[in-house]
Order: sequence, then structure tokens, then C-alpha cells
Amino acid sequence: MNIILLGPPGAGKGTQASRLEDERGMVQLSTGDMLRAAVKAGTPVGLKAKAVMEAGELVSDEIVSGIIGERLDELGDETGAIFDGYPRTAPQAASLDTILAERGRTLDHVIELVVDEDALVERITGRFTCASCGEGYHDKFKLPAVAETCDQCGAHEFKRRPDDNEETVRTRMTEYRAKTAPILPIYEARGLVKRVDGMADIAHVTDAIEAILDGRG
Ligand code: ADP
Ligand code: AMP
Repeated sequence: MNIILLGPPGAGKGTQASRLEDERGMVQLSTGDMLRAAVKAGTPVGLKAKAVMEAGELVSDEIVSGIIGERLDELGDETGAIFDGYPRTAPQAASLDTILAERGRTLDHVIELVVDEDALVERITGRFTCASCGEGYHDKFKLPAVAETCDQCGAHEFKRRPDDNEETVRTRMTEYRAKTAPILPIYEARGLVKRVDGMADIAHVTDAIEAILDGRG
């Protein structure tokens, strides 16, 4: 099964992708995570992407479609993919069709996480992750069970993204509205879009997504 999680920054795509990985053995393909790794490693892609990401703008379609194809090739044929943060433009949606077709894969669902825009700034400015395993947290909505200790791996170091500030979030939302939301009708025309209330508790959102994957939603 191959699915896209679609929604504005902070909608909960990464949170849900990680829970589906744990529960279903699917693999999260997050272009944001891949680009951050490239920036950290100082690769040619990372050098091109760094300033664009810090400004909250979109990295070029060629770069992101290239890295997503490479990563998909690393998955076994039986492993389902969760696309998180990709595609983000109409050309990326067209590239994904080609990338999937070339590998004999089909797109099963496009799951839109519907959220109130007002909540997104609070979600994003409160976001942090474990510096060791990447588990996601939130200052208010998802604190570690034991203070300053990762629930998953027990590490004590956490980090925040440089682009998770209020000003950049506004640019990222503008980019979402202008370039990403317009791809929904492409998938609607194919009958692939399912909507989930992204304002519900994290566990309830997962339940709603699982119902869709199991054909109950
Ligand atoms: P995205 O990947 O769509 O940008 P994240 O999954 O990183 O968003 O979520 C953004 C922040 O909001 C994180 O700190 C996460 O813990 C928190 N969060 C995610 N889903 C929910 C939810 N349903 N309710 C409250 N907070 C949430
Ligand atoms: P994310 O982790 O999904 O919030 O993405 C962080 C940043 O990486 C975005 O603000 C963009 O600058 C860049 N990025 C991630 N995915 C894409 C994509 N599919 N297309 C263009 N830029 C992307």
C-alpha cells in the first residue's frame, strides 16, 4: 500500500507517519527529513536546499523528486510507502505518478489532515524532537513521560528546527496554500482523497487513518 499524507505544516503528518510505521511496518518517506539530513551532511543537495528551507520556501521539484525516487528504490517491493511532505506541487504530483508507475506501485489513498490554521503556529513553535532517534514531541501536546527523557530511546538531548519559528511558519503556510493545496483536486478527480480531522487527539487521528487503510473509513 502507498499513501500520501497531505496537510499544512504542523498538521501532524510526521507524527502519524511514525505511528503507522510502528503499527503497520510501512515506511515514512519524508522529503523534509531527507533534506535536513542532506543539509547536515553538507552534500551538494544540502548546500542548495539550506537557505531555501530556512526561508520557508520550497526546494526545487527536480531535487525533491530525485531524492524520493532514490529512497523508494531502497524499499522492498512489499513495503508500503507513506509519503510525508511530498508531493507539494503539481509537477511533483506528476513526477510521483511516473516514479510509482516505473516501480510497479500504485497510489492507494491521499489522506488530508484537516486542521484549523490558527492552531498550526502553536503546534509548530512547540515542536521538538529527540536528537538521537528523532521521536517527535510538543511542549504542550506531547511531552515525554519522564521529563527530558525520550520515551523511545531514553536519550536526554532534544532539538528544535531552525525553521520552526513564527515568521517562517507564515511563509510555509503561504507556500502550502499557493502550491500544495491546489494538488488536492488532481487526486479528488481520481477518487483518492479521504479527509481526517487533524484537530482530534493524536491517537484518534491514527484510528481514523487506520480505518481508511482497512477499508472501514
Ligand atoms: P507535520 O509533519 O505535519 O509538519 P508534526 O507531525 O511534526 O507535523 O506535528 C507538529 C507538532 O504538533 C508536533 O510537535 C506534534 O507533537 C504535534 N501534534 C501532532 N499531531 C497533533 C494532534 N493531533 N494534536 C496535538 N498536537 C499534535
Ligand atoms: P517539512 O519537514 O515537510 O516541514 O519540510 C521542511 C522544508 O523542506 C520545507 O519548508 C521546504 O523548504 C523543504 N521541503 C520539504 N519537502 C519538500 C518538497 N516536497 N518540495 C519542496 N520543498 C520541500
